[in-house]
Amino acid sequence: MADNDKTLDNETEKIDETKVTVENTDKKDDDEYEKVCFICRRPESVAGKMINLPNNICVCNDCMQKSFDIMNSGQIDYSQLMNIPGMQFINLADVEQTVPKQQKIKKKKEKEERKPLVDINHLPAPHKIKAKLDEYVVGQEYAKKAMSVAVYNHYKRVATDTMDEIEIEKSNMLMIGPTGSGKTYLVKTLARLLDVPLAITDATSLTEAGYIGDDIESVVSKLLAAADNDVEKAEQGIIFIDEIDKIAKKRNSSQRDVSGESVQQGMLKLLEGSQVEVPVGANSKNAMVPLTTVNTRNILFICGGAFPELDNMIKERLKKQASIGFGAELKDKYDRDKKILEKVTLEDLRKFGMIPEFLGRLPIVFTLQGLSEEMLVQILKEPKNAILKQYQKLLALDEVKLTFDEGALHAIAKKAMKKDTGARALRAIIEEFMLDIMYEIPKDDSIGEVTITKEYIEGTGGPVIALRSQQVMRIGS
Ligand code: ADP
Repeated sequence: MADNDKTLDNETEKIDETKVTVENTDKKDDDEYEKVCFICRRPESVAGKMINLPNNICVCNDCMQKSFDIMNSGQIDYSQLMNIPGMQFINLADVEQTVPKQQKIKKKKEKEERKPLVDINHLPAPHKIKAKLDEYVVGQEYAKKAMSVAVYNHYKRVATDTMDEIEIEKSNMLMIGPTGSGKTYLVKTLARLLDVPLAITDATSLTEAGYIGDDIESVVSKLLAAADNDVEKAEQGIIFIDEIDKIAKKRNSSQRDVSGESVQQGMLKLLEGSQVEVPVGANSKNAMVPLTTVNTRNILFICGGAFPELDNMIKERLKKQASIGFGAELKDKYDRDKKILEKVTLEDLRKFGMIPEFLGRLPIVFTLQGLSEEMLVQILKEPKNAILKQYQKLLALDEVKLTFDEGALHAIAKKAMKKDTGARALRAIIEEFMLDIMYEIPKDDSIGEVTITKEYIEGTGGPVIALRSQQVMRIGS
């Protein structure tokens, strides 16, 4: 009998143990999940501490308060009920069936505190910012210089907040350069170095408020999302608007220009600095999403575009000027000038269709060069995260050494030049022929080194492969 009791005791102990582990896992899960308000669906991290009700239901303070207010005001006014964000008419009888067992969503993992490479509160001199950019971006010396100075001035202005005494102008920028010359890449690199949030938008998707397309203010809500809904962080961020040339004033058009001139007009206030009401956690305003106010005064706006045909306009202007004094022989000098874009003036941009008020709010204008074959070769191998380095690292994990002949690099660059999409073509070309290498090499353990040759790129030969044993022999001999 006594023995029986003992075994029973043991059993209960065991059961207790399992209970404890279940509780422990529950606790662990609790750490990873956060509660969601049953009414407005906002998670605890947004809506604040939740009130727990029976049946696993949680309600946030705001919704609870609103419910009491409505009840206290006497009669229930259903129209008021509708004002609670996310509130729908609920048949309480359905509640039990609809309540999910776990009224929680998984918490985002806390990000590690990242130390920025360039601290915006203790900004290094412009030449040091440029040196950092040099590690990633090949060529484009003038653009890097202009950007470093602009960023230096901008964040110095933000940090010291000297706007009120002597008004320092905002350093918004306009970049002009052919496609694939590194406009987006420069901005991305800069934002990463400074560790500020960055929002990239295409000007083609923007339309005047009320028309199909994104509102102009949606760029700010994108930035807010990039800053994890932290308004203070967003207010120091960067907004990059690409394809800005596509919102040029339409020439010879009698219709209302909702995606061109009106967008430029609509952006004026934003560029200069204004209070913008933006939805939190969504990119369109509606009754369901809470709103917050973002001040764009310290947000750095960078606009970029390829401005096709602008070079012809510049040539035309220069030719006209030249014909006054020097005669015809100088005229074709400009036709062959590769750096013609650098001679751009505000007058040319105005002729292109950018309105003067808009240009006035982008005081720093600079151009990027089209990439030459030599620059493309450099892009392949030199930057810190160069494409070749990435492939070399991948294969190194399989203990295979990957090398590229200089001839192969030039062959890749030549192929890319033909596509006329700048450096963007490089990755596609490399991926095409690296696919076979990445597929075949890990199959065979004995391979120790692969050399990509010019012939392989041009399709007239194959890569040179050295086996591990041979390598050892070579080293030994
Ligand atoms: P766009 O001028 O059209 O905005 P991108 O900046 O998107 O061109 O360039 C496309 C890609 O080409 C980038 O992601 C980057 O990897 C590469 N690239 C372009 N220009 C450079 C450059 N000057 N230095 C290093 N990489 C570059």
